[in-house]
Amino acid sequence: MNKTTPPSATAREARVRDLEAHDELAPMRDRFHIPCDERGAELAYFAGNSLGLEPKTARALVNEELDAWAELGVAGHFKERRPWFSYHELARQSLARIVGANEREVVAMNSLTVNLHLLMASFYQPTPDRFRIVIEDTAFPSDSYAVASQAAFHGFDPADAIVRLTPRAGEDCLRTEDIEERLDREGQSIALVLLGGVNYLTGQLFDMERLTRAGRAAGAVVGWDLAHAAGNAPLRLHDWNVDFAAWCSYKYLNAGAGAVAGCFVHEMHWKIGAVSRPRLEGWWGSDPVSRFQMAPEFAPAPGADAWQLSNPPILSMAPLLASLAIFDEVGMDRLREKSLRLTGYLEELLAGLGDRVRVITPTDPAQRGCQLSIAINKKAKAVQSQLSAAGVVCDFREPNILRAAPTPLYNTFHDCWRLASTLATALDSSH
Ligand SMILES: *Cc1c(COP(=O)(O)O)cnc(C)c1O
Repeated sequence: MNKTTPPSATAREARVRDLEAHDELAPMRDRFHIPCDERGAELAYFAGNSLGLEPKTARALVNEELDAWAELGVAGHFKERRPWFSYHELARQSLARIVGANEREVVAMNSLTVNLHLLMASFYQPTPDRFRIVIEDTAFPSDSYAVASQAAFHGFDPADAIVRLTPRAGEDCLRTEDIEERLDREGQSIALVLLGGVNYLTGQLFDMERLTRAGRAAGAVVGWDLAHAAGNAPLRLHDWNVDFAAWCSYKYLNAGAGAVAGCFVHEMHWKIGAVSRPRLEGWWGSDPVSRFQMAPEFAPAPGADAWQLSNPPILSMAPLLASLAIFDEVGMDRLREKSLRLTGYLEELLAGLGDRVRVITPTDPAQRGCQLSIAINKKAKAVQSQLSAAGVVCDFREPNILRAAPTPLYNTFHDCWRLASTLATALDSSH
């Protein structure tokens, strides 16, 4: 694009139409309920990084289980179609594909922060010499609280135990080589590296393969919080030798508020002969073959399933199945391919707004998912309200960051255009 002569309105429209015409995932939008304003016009919804939209098939799946409960009562646990006893199994294959794992390495259970704690109960085993936990300085608050409370739980002072990674002066994102260097230098005292695969604030997608290697080489356990990565970025957890991971399912995985989360435990930690680790256990982690013998001794289920505690909430797992069917149909490769084009287009439009906005997310597409975090030189809260009044939904983080996530399953190139043009107007007018 030529800086001195901005494209005419017709050229811009032609470009959006062309992008839309070549978007083979465009029909997927119709699989979702798109929220509307009070006049019934569809919103340009960029908040899929907070709460993904509802798949239209979710309601039927929830109703199916409500009906089964009404008609069958306890017999629903062993009904023919989707028995509750093994309901969580139905999510296994799709989740394994999304995070790049063997089927037995994943399980759908609990919520994200709960899973982080359960996994740290096994994988954070500090000693007086090796007790530190590395996180991003801009980690999501729940992760900060979780690691600090784990350190305190083991008798360590969080101020000493938690290492917060900060970018170089004048930069917004962390550099892989700086983290590697730190892990190499301070590795002896580090017990656990727990980073967000995609940072929730900056949108930075980490080189998980390299950082997992560096953390493990330093003698630490490496876990990933994939809240903003699952269903967004390509993942190969098994091949990268990630020790453990957890994610929620209500962001890019579109499974509804408070949806059942996911958990990954690499097979090296549970296959026969693996070094045994402590674990907090409950009956649903026991081998389903012998579970109803109700024995007092715990016989673990094979794989990540052994970390389950309770029988799963069927009604909140039903929408997850509805969503995963869409991911299976599209596949992460095609999803990522559109995602790169959609986010690239939004980036291009934002560049046209000049120095009033600055995207702090890495410009290298390999280092980001779909989200762009936009620092603006006006009162971001006021700008966000104006966007919202114009039907453009994105969120605001202190002090001046707007986060916009064009998600490839239901956002359009036209949505991106709406965001950029509304933002231009809002920046012109707000004080
Ligand atoms: C969204 C998010 C959470 C939310 O935790 P819940 O336990 O699902 O409420 C935690 N960590 C990160 C990194 C997140 O992005």
